[in-house]
Amino acid sequence: MTTGKNYIGNQVSAKGNRTFKTFNPELDQENETVFTEATKEEIDEAVNLASQAFKEFSTISGTKKAEFLNTIADEIVALDDTLIQMYCSETGLPEGRAKGERGRTIGQLRSFANLVAEGSWVEATIDTAQPTREPLPKSDIRKMLIPIGPVVVFGASNFPLAYSTAGGDTAAALASGCPVLVKSHPMHAGTGDLVASAIVKAAQKTGMPNGVFSNLNSSGIEVGQQLVSHPKVKAVGFTGSIKGGRALYDLAAKRDEPIPVFAEMGSINPVVILPKALENRHQEIAKTYANSITLGTGQFCTNPGLLLAIKSDSLTNFIKNLSEEIIKINPSCMLHPNIKKGYITNKEKVISQENVSVVANFSSEVQNNYAAQTVVTVEGKEFLKNSTLHLEVFGPFSMVVQCENKSELEMIIANLEGQLTGTVISDTDEVSEYPTVISALQNRVGRIIFNGVPTGVEVCESMVHGGPYPASTDSRFTAVGINSIKRWVRPFSYQDWPNNLLPKELQNENSMAIFRTIDGVKTNEKINE
Ligand code: NAP
Repeated sequence: MTTGKNYIGNQVSAKGNRTFKTFNPELDQENETVFTEATKEEIDEAVNLASQAFKEFSTISGTKKAEFLNTIADEIVALDDTLIQMYCSETGLPEGRAKGERGRTIGQLRSFANLVAEGSWVEATIDTAQPTREPLPKSDIRKMLIPIGPVVVFGASNFPLAYSTAGGDTAAALASGCPVLVKSHPMHAGTGDLVASAIVKAAQKTGMPNGVFSNLNSSGIEVGQQLVSHPKVKAVGFTGSIKGGRALYDLAAKRDEPIPVFAEMGSINPVVILPKALENRHQEIAKTYANSITLGTGQFCTNPGLLLAIKSDSLTNFIKNLSEEIIKINPSCMLHPNIKKGYITNKEKVISQENVSVVANFSSEVQNNYAAQTVVTVEGKEFLKNSTLHLEVFGPFSMVVQCENKSELEMIIANLEGQLTGTVISDTDEVSEYPTVISALQNRVGRIIFNGVPTGVEVCESMVHGGPYPASTDSRFTAVGINSIKRWVRPFSYQDWPNNLLPKELQNENSMAIFRTIDGVKTNEKINE
């Protein structure tokens, strides 16, 4: 089942001599399978195949693409327990999480299948000709979204299924008509290998062109760099660190032909707890947040890493409650020793800053690769002047910032880097007393939450998972939900093109009965000649 090899289109290949193994953080030992990193020649072969496949795949009907996506979902289901066991052995995450993430991955694939089978997503827009217009006749112009070309997807360490090999980026790119080259994440190469086998099987079963999908193993940054630099690659999807995402963004910008890099990176997800809510519900809020901070060992991009509130006795009580609640939760395993190392390093860096107090920490040792949850506190004025305190500490960590007053709270929010989410905890109507705080927050985030927690990203059409830099490299797009398809397309116009040579979506007959905008009116009617 697991090959340890690269998928160059439909063929497995292992020509290189650089090998590596994945690691089981729960058992604190290496897994058995040996993976072979892709060579320069194999990468070149995969990109050339993808570029060749694009010619056919970009014109395949929505119904055929839907069949392909649904078959990928079926093949992933068919991997059954083999996939779940592999996932757990490479991540330290529990079986329940693995199954949940598999369900989400399958759901995403099927929702893109429905989207492209229906077809209106191409935003067909038609301005009919006016041959008698004075002083000049008007041409017939018809526009729709078309795929951009081969896309490279970097799988995320923290979502081996839902944001990796057949995850949201891949599903969206394939749905749009773009071939995909996955740069497999070295921490879960076995999970990636199994999912890649499912995609390749589905591609063959549904008659997709060879090269529509490739999966390339890597144990270092070279494979990714070579992929992003390849002239036939036309866009990149990435989830991970700011350092990695930014390096790839810069690399893509330096190419002779710069290409878009849609990177979803770090976020500390500020939570603003308003005074009355704190006064009335500090115990309940503390319990909710102790759970949210430690969920998935804090390894979510939406982890609440920053809690902001105005100084009061209730805030002091809240800090005490939060510390007590979070210590009650058993520490859990991190994804990989390197992730744990990053957690310790970044946490120490923040804790060692002047005037930072640790209010909740485990005094006893935790198991290897497990993370001790930590809460620290600092005054608003210190947070404002020290940018190290704004660092993402990836893991079960949060900082409570004690603000002097409303204006300091607003200033702190306005000075934050871009974030995926912002949350407001408020008593009924209390929020209406803070309009400038809310607008400052809106200016810094992609999603705003009322009386909830930022962890848990619903996959639906209205979801925005992105935000101002560095939460993402382009805040105009979401990485979650069907609208994420828009990252992999470009608008294209046909002028006075013969009706029978137009794509079906733009033909007068509207045989797919999709919704189109015709002369400014949204309709699913055909055009009468
Ligand atoms: P990462 O270091 O950013 O790596 C992600 C992927 O990008 C890996 O496949 C890596 O390849 C590749 N990569 C990194 N730097 C590169 C470069 N300069 N050129 C080419 N490719 C490059 O993230 P990670 O390994 O998933 O996790 C490390 C840290 O990232 C975490 O501790 C956390 O701080 C952060 N992270 C944040 C989020 C979030 O959503 N906020 C999610 C995941 C991770 P190789 O591994 O082969 O080198």
